[in-house]
Amino acid sequence: MYNLRLLRQLRYSLVLQNSGTSLAPLPPCRLLAGQHKRRPQLGALPSDQLDRLKSEYFERQCALSNEDWQHVRSTLTESYRHVNGTNVDAIILGLCSKAEQLPVAKSFVEHLKTQGIKPNAATMGRLLRVYNAAYHTRELSEAEQSEIVEICDTLQNAHDVLDASSCENLILGLVATTHHWDRALPLLDMMRLTSTPSVSAYSALIAKAFSADQLELGWRLLDEMVQARKMPKCEIFLSLLAHSAKDERTLSVQLERLFCFLELHDILISELVAQQLLALAQRLPQRLQVSTTRLERFGKCSNCQQNLQHVAISDAQFTELRESFLQKVLIRNDVFQKTTPEELQRFKQYVEKTAPYDCVIDGLNVAYSTGTKKPPAQLAKLLATVVRYFKERRKRVLVLGRQHMRNWSKPAMQYIQSNASVFFTSNLTHDDPFLLYATLRSGQDTDFFSRDLMRAHAHLLGTELKAIFRRWQQEHQYSLVTQTQTGQIIVKEPIRYRLSAHKVGNVWHVPCCEAYSANPPDSFEVPEKWLCITIAP
Ligand SMILES: [Zn+2]
Repeated sequence: MYNLRLLRQLRYSLVLQNSGTSLAPLPPCRLLAGQHKRRPQLGALPSDQLDRLKSEYFERQCALSNEDWQHVRSTLTESYRHVNGTNVDAIILGLCSKAEQLPVAKSFVEHLKTQGIKPNAATMGRLLRVYNAAYHTRELSEAEQSEIVEICDTLQNAHDVLDASSCENLILGLVATTHHWDRALPLLDMMRLTSTPSVSAYSALIAKAFSADQLELGWRLLDEMVQARKMPKCEIFLSLLAHSAKDERTLSVQLERLFCFLELHDILISELVAQQLLALAQRLPQRLQVSTTRLERFGKCSNCQQNLQHVAISDAQFTELRESFLQKVLIRNDVFQKTTPEELQRFKQYVEKTAPYDCVIDGLNVAYSTGTKKPPAQLAKLLATVVRYFKERRKRVLVLGRQHMRNWSKPAMQYIQSNASVFFTSNLTHDDPFLLYATLRSGQDTDFFSRDLMRAHAHLLGTELKAIFRRWQQEHQYSLVTQTQTGQIIVKEPIRYRLSAHKVGNVWHVPCCEAYSANPPDSFEVPEKWLCITIAP
């Protein structure tokens, strides 16, 4: 259907095209359908006028006359500076994008045709999204599915290459069909030419694969999606659960696989998914018991009374983590972009001489915890207070600092230097890798003090080790919550039990969140709600 090598050669110009503000097509112009990649910013329209248009025309939920459509079109183009002949049609379809508005959306496209206007790719893409919305509320008729396929054919025949946004629209259209959804797979490849496929595209396709009994395909894409750091939407898990419920004999295997996946990738399920699991258990009580639960002190489940697993990792896992960290994070070339081999060498020798420590403190991070604009005397005093916190607990401390901190107030810096080992890196050095090196090098009992969530470092380790790194991080990371008026500090101590889905004995404990978030926080907070789940073998 399209020539991959040609596409790769085109990649550079496609990227340029998408990053520019001018969206004129590149020559030869048939190659792209991306003139309208940017979604029109509907929020920019004054809302009162927009509401009037919506309630007068789009909420009738049926076809509009040619006169009505002409009026809507001219009102929008005349009233809003950024609405023009090129984007107005897609904007109109954006205004009637709810499932029940499919007839209105179709009537608009019909209207364009009667006026001799050929709807552009963005407009037809928007229409596909409305079909998709309808598909989520009911099964589409044969005729509707044929309409989708026809639109996709037209768009694909007109353009050898579609931009990522058009690919997403087509994918959303195709998954609403029973027999043509697998045509969406090469579109996912096409998206990869210019970007990582979107959360919506992945989620729609994976949910479809599960519901169409293509489990291995679904799981493969799901793994790929999380590798690309895209958070799976609820529709994926809902689809998998609905499919698993169809066959009681394989239900336990499917559920175990799902929960292991949640554990490995530290994913919380949303309220919607939790409700479906509870409903499934009600329907099949012999197969599955699910209760909502909360944790008591020290991570005790108030339902089954068991304690959640300790977060600590095994000695073998720690050794593997330490070695891999050195290989993948510290020795990686780009560490040297922010330091020099000489500085790294000097640091390693210093650590060899002064380790082991009980705690390694990121000095600048701590000093800036309550704001970066404070006078140096105050910054130094805060750091000294944190050093004292550990000193009072008879801990051996290493403070990582920057050269410029040497100029901070003398008494506080003197206190720090006489009560801790202190290593100053150059002002430009990125010191997280140094912090992690010193902590890991010191041994399995060593903690560190920093607010940094170390996301990038964790990701470099790969999926399996990332999960182990996160557990190690959770067990060993201290951070400053605040400093009181009287100068006292409140320190956040590590939570010692596991916060991700895991099994205690034969009972799964799965953490929940209220709703799906594309970027859930990486901080270690105890989820309020959990599910306590027993699966019959
Ligand atoms: Zn429990």
